Amino acid sequence: MEKRELLYEGKAKQIFLTDDPDCIIIHYKDDATAYNNVKKAIIEAKGLINNQISAIVFEYLGKNGIPTHFIKQLNERDQLCRRVKIFPLEFVVRNIIAGSMAKRLNIPEGTKPSNTIIDICYKNEELGDPLINNDHAVALGVVTYGELDEIFAIARKVNELLTDLFKKHGITLVDFKMEFGRTSDGQIVLADEISPDTCRFWDSETNEKLDKDRFRRDLGKVREAYEEILHRLTK
Ligand code: UDP
Repeated sequence: MEKRELLYEGKAKQIFLTDDPDCIIIHYKDDATAYNNVKKAIIEAKGLINNQISAIVFEYLGKNGIPTHFIKQLNERDQLCRRVKIFPLEFVVRNIIAGSMAKRLNIPEGTKPSNTIIDICYKNEELGDPLINNDHAVALGVVTYGELDEIFAIARKVNELLTDLFKKHGITLVDFKMEFGRTSDGQIVLADEISPDTCRFWDSETNEKLDKDRFRRDLGKVREAYEEILHRLTK
């Protein structure tokens, strides 16, 4: 399958049309951004590493019954995926408190809550992707309650599967972000990417951060951390 017209360019990826109207090619770039584009950099080989990690993760989820957009990895930086209409919502699953939730509610990072938390953020750059709830999402007209039920059920299952997968490789899945879309035949599927750009991964023994927080917080060894995740997943 060949790349045709550029459909969309995001911070870390480009989306190309193909000759099949139901398929797109996702190209992973090395660009990294944080804090709503305030911090920017190129992390050499990040796109290549994230393409592989995301492909491994989506393949695993697909094999375990999760409906996803992923079809196959094409080369080092490209993957073939089903074309979907993305819900303009980010679903963040939190197993351990970190990042924005730790800050907003003044909870020490690393605290384990008694329950799993799922946040919804409205994807709107002008507004800074605000945290919203189910009622807000429905009121915005971007999703129905029925669709939210379906998405939450998939999100919980994905969390169980990924927690298990990463645990086997000595990695704690602290939190992660998911996006969902609808295919032309109406199926809700997991889309976008799952990688150290979109997850918090801590080494299970040392709690060393192996994700984008190394970039956000200037901790150094960003590429090495991403490589470590890929290395462990392919070991
Ligand atoms: N996340 C993401 N994209 C975003 C915001 C968050 O992939 O636009 C991921 C982030 O990497 C982390 C989780 O979602 O794994 C929770 O992020 P949080 O809300 O704590 O925000 P952050 O601290 O990243 O600003």
